[in-house]
Amino acid sequence: MPPPTLSSKLTSIQGIRLAGSASAWNIDIHYPADSPRGIIQSITPHEATTPGDDSVPTPLVLPALTHPHIHLDKAFVHSASQYAHLLPSTGTFQEALSFTTEAKQQFTVPDVLQRGEWLLAESVSAGVTAMRAFVEVDHTVKLVCLEAATKLQDQWKDACEIQIVCFAQDPIFSTQHGEENMELLEQALARYPQIDVIGTTPYVESTIEAAKRNIDWAVDRALELNKHLDFHLDYNLDSGKEALVWYVLQSLQHRGWTSSSTTKRVMLGHCTRHTLFTDEEWCRISHIIHENDLPVSFVGLPTSDLYMAASPDQKTSHDRPRGTLRVPEMIRKHDLDAVMGVNNVGNAFTPWGPPDPLFLACLGVGIYQAGTQDDARLLYECVSTRARAAIGLSSSRSSIGLKEGDSPDFLLFHRQDLTGCRVARPCGTVAEVVWDPPATVNRDVVVGGQLKRSGFPCSRGDLVYKFSNE
Ligand SMILES: [Zn+2]
Repeated sequence: MPPPTLSSKLTSIQGIRLAGSASAWNIDIHYPADSPRGIIQSITPHEATTPGDDSVPTPLVLPALTHPHIHLDKAFVHSASQYAHLLPSTGTFQEALSFTTEAKQQFTVPDVLQRGEWLLAESVSAGVTAMRAFVEVDHTVKLVCLEAATKLQDQWKDACEIQIVCFAQDPIFSTQHGEENMELLEQALARYPQIDVIGTTPYVESTIEAAKRNIDWAVDRALELNKHLDFHLDYNLDSGKEALVWYVLQSLQHRGWTSSSTTKRVMLGHCTRHTLFTDEEWCRISHIIHENDLPVSFVGLPTSDLYMAASPDQKTSHDRPRGTLRVPEMIRKHDLDAVMGVNNVGNAFTPWGPPDPLFLACLGVGIYQAGTQDDARLLYECVSTRARAAIGLSSSRSSIGLKEGDSPDFLLFHRQDLTGCRVARPCGTVAEVVWDPPATVNRDVVVGGQLKRSGFPCSRGDLVYKFSNE
């Protein structure tokens, strides 16, 4: 399947709603001579001029969505027939690990390309125009996933900016394959300039010392090669285990990685162990980050965490607490940078849920008991503007209000009847979008000023979209 066809350049979008405003607006887009991508030139009040203009509900426009953490190479293993023998039978973490390793032995470039396209198509149609995509490099898959990811990065570049993570899911300082895994990582880093991020998984090392060497190596190499850094960290709910976040923060301080020394950022993912921290410990983390100007963000991965992250003490089925980072609280109470990501889709680690970031924002309402209008706006930001800033693709975590000078990357939510009963419930506020996300066929995506229509084009499109004549 090819990447989506984008329209010619949009010069204006007319009669739309914006977050926090009940009136209608126009957005004009300007294309600088030296750039294929537009910028928002002006946002002005809309005056109805066309007959019938007022009779159809105005679509709501919000910033485009972002995947700050998604596994491209492992996506939709469950949808590919060659892996039918690897569908979960017990659903445990151990089974997920061993089935995924087995599946990885079968990975080929065409296979990763196909499953990657499924992921990209569904993500883009949901409104994702930027993503941080993890692809594994180790003795099992060698450079197969990376090869496929660089192809997809190029093929889909007009619709979605794919930031590639060269990812060590496996140990690099312990076990019989550690050395070979490390050699392959270095080979990948030398051969593929398209790699934007170094990612590792310190908790898979067989000792705490090896985990710390893993962290130090990754910090050093990311600094040397001027890349972002991304750890899968502290993925447990075991208060008896040392939380490695302290060591990561220390390592960054020792090496002088600050927001002013580099534009590259550090992301810590999962971190379920941190849900056992006291308020005082959270304050310490926040203090260390702010005091030392560390460009550190956290990403909560609730669909995976809810499925997998259970406490080791709770083996009985009716008493199994779950843990996932409390993202809104981290932002509001501890002034930390935190976002939400989909992580896995369609595989043994996370067999449930779509690759739609709005599904996560919606889930967040329930998990965090976050039911106010302000909560909804924050949750939207966590899968949109904040997520984009956390992965280093924009400098501000700006709110969901569009403004002049912004890149025209946004989503239009329509209100077409999908029931077949000729009734359509209004959906015109951010809270309504987050509480019950509109189906993707009710979303049009604008990327860089070009339109990717949903598979079910809006009947009102002619009134809303004005294109350049070129
Ligand atoms: Zn992950």
